[in-house]
Amino acid sequence: MSRQTIIAANWKMNGNLALVESITSTINSIEFADNVKVVVCPSYPYLAAFASKISNDSINLGAQNISEYAKGAYTGEISADMLNEMSVGYAIVGHSERRSIFRETSTQIAHKVKAALANGITPILCIGESEAERMTEQTETVLSAQLQPVIDEIGIESFKNVVIAYEPVWAIGTGKTASPEMAQETHKFIRRFLAEQNAEIADGVSLLYGGSVNAATSEELFAQPDIDGGLIGGASLKVDEFKTICSTSKG
Ligand code: PEP
Repeated sequence: MSRQTIIAANWKMNGNLALVESITSTINSIEFADNVKVVVCPSYPYLAAFASKISNDSINLGAQNISEYAKGAYTGEISADMLNEMSVGYAIVGHSERRSIFRETSTQIAHKVKAALANGITPILCIGESEAERMTEQTETVLSAQLQPVIDEIGIESFKNVVIAYEPVWAIGTGKTASPEMAQETHKFIRRFLAEQNAEIADGVSLLYGGSVNAATSEELFAQPDIDGGLIGGASLKVDEFKTICSTSKG
């Protein structure tokens, strides 16, 4: 099956209006293959500006988080409805920084995935093990434990509308990228884990690799059979580097 290739940019709490301008003016002119989508996730205040500057059908807007609640007295939260109004088509859910710094639980993350799907927003569900967990050979146990609560909440069939980003925590923002072989092996495990519950769904899910991807490493990572693109942090803030990464996506 040919899967959707996705190059997603996570700006985290970085960027400004000048970056919105320079990134959009650079990537708007790229001709992407039909099955490639670029998803840029700036901070909330820049969503509207970004939306107004996209002039390429392959470029989509994403949010870095989404509330599990629909509306009401939840100061500081942003609902799926609000994101819909801002033309947001994707939302990163369960990023390791949300899990560790903001103590988001697997149950809360499952609720966020459900809220996104209920409103037509594609969740980019992040999973990944810590360095200690990899060293003690717990990677597969950890990834299964992060995936299963979401499967229990939404059902495996709903994964046809979910994107998964495998992001080893030890590789995020550290400059230590997983080797293409190691990343492929873990992506293969994730697909096999999903396949045990529904082979067809597993075959169609886009699995992104994230963790210090840059212009020098993206091509080989994206060439792996079970890697369908990337979630890019630091390198997505550098216009020329992000442009190069986009151009290495397999079409
Ligand atoms: C991320 O924040 O999702 C990420 C992968 O960051 P970086 O590329 O900087 O490691």
